[in-house]
Amino acid sequence: MAKSTDFRYNTGATRVPWPAVGENYNKEDLMAVIRFLMKGEGPEYEAAIQAVEAEVEKLDKLSTPPGKLSLGPNVEAAEAACDAYLKTSGSTFVANATAGFEIAYKYANLQPGDEVIVPAITFIATMAYPLSVGAKLVFADLDPRTCNMDPKDVEKKITPKTKMIVPVHIGGYPCDMDAIMEIANKHDILVLEDAAHAFGAMYKGKMVGTIGHFGAYSFHEVKNCTSFGEGGILTTNVDAFRPYMKRSRFFGCNFDTPIKNWLYDVNAMPGKYGPFVAQNSSTTEIQALGLKLQVERYDKILAERKAAAEYVTKRLSGNPAIIPQDTENPDVVPTYHLYLLEIDPAKAGGDVQTLKAKLTEKGVTNIPHFGPLFHFDVLKTYGYDMDEIAKTCPVCEDLFNNRFTHLPIYGLTGEQLEYMCDAILEAVAEMQEGK
Ligand SMILES: *Cc1c(COP(=O)(O)O)cnc(C)c1O
Repeated sequence: MAKSTDFRYNTGATRVPWPAVGENYNKEDLMAVIRFLMKGEGPEYEAAIQAVEAEVEKLDKLSTPPGKLSLGPNVEAAEAACDAYLKTSGSTFVANATAGFEIAYKYANLQPGDEVIVPAITFIATMAYPLSVGAKLVFADLDPRTCNMDPKDVEKKITPKTKMIVPVHIGGYPCDMDAIMEIANKHDILVLEDAAHAFGAMYKGKMVGTIGHFGAYSFHEVKNCTSFGEGGILTTNVDAFRPYMKRSRFFGCNFDTPIKNWLYDVNAMPGKYGPFVAQNSSTTEIQALGLKLQVERYDKILAERKAAAEYVTKRLSGNPAIIPQDTENPDVVPTYHLYLLEIDPAKAGGDVQTLKAKLTEKGVTNIPHFGPLFHFDVLKTYGYDMDEIAKTCPVCEDLFNNRFTHLPIYGLTGEQLEYMCDAILEAVAEMQEGK
């Protein structure tokens, strides 16, 4: 791909150039950023900050500002790092995963009345765009072992109006993509992978998020890897769209050709069924720098998560009432964004709500995990009948009410992990004893 030549810089060698950046950052701003990223207090901290400040003063006299804050060489470098990691080409760094989904939905020219199949349990981001344009959300029931969409139920819910299937790799555990792609290809339906939790996950040797027609990862602050708090990568397998994907991030403008007379070279983007107007989901050079650095150390991040998950699974194995996260399936490599804990209520002598209450008593955080989206008020507002939908997703209802919870798995000390496992084992033992 040609190197982007941002039209705002094409003034060439002139006596009075167009600086093209509104207000640059200065040394005081940099110090505020250092204090933000490296918090502390006390005299020793303040002394260290002052020492840095003195050096920054010196640097200030020796340096120039970047002169480019949005969509520049750092964005290209972060995308190249992601392409290398994912074995893709044309990966596009966007404002967040939701912005990536929006481009894919627009490529599908999603219209009111079109149907989109989403899993019963996910986050609202998966379906906000279809909901907002009046498309109909159809909820697929779940595979009880993974909490991911069950391809058999997806197949049952396809109609002539189905335009997209959106598998979500919940908690970073890969969906059964072969089965989903087979159904989609048979019916000529586009697949968008919500890989918000699954950067680096693998399914049968392929990177999750690069198997469907589109895939998007999230680098929001709570995800495995971040780009200073917000960001996403969009990938595609639609070769005809690949040359347009980066342009779809900024109104369809083409930065690859020199622009004469300062007119924007802007086009409608080619969707599957007709043109569409792109929005602005650009990213900054600073975000890109953050992403590239974390991608470069991502193997280490994943290895730490995996080690923690393996420890928990080992500790929780043995009690037949507890079904720990599977860490041994040869077909999949999860990212362990969240740890999926299930119980068998018949054997445990109680359901997961009882377990969660006991864990709270023991001081183990119950992170608010993902629930059935059709119970949320936003869907009621749009006229969805929650009770009717619940009847079409019986496995999801049972999983959510009785069987599963997500556990935190990263950023805990060895002692905290150990305590969490002890607490779960104790709580289930108490339930089994009828306490
Ligand atoms: C976080 C999340 C998203 C959205 O990611 P953003 O980058 O914040 O837009 C989408 N789907 C799921 C399942 C998520 O948890």
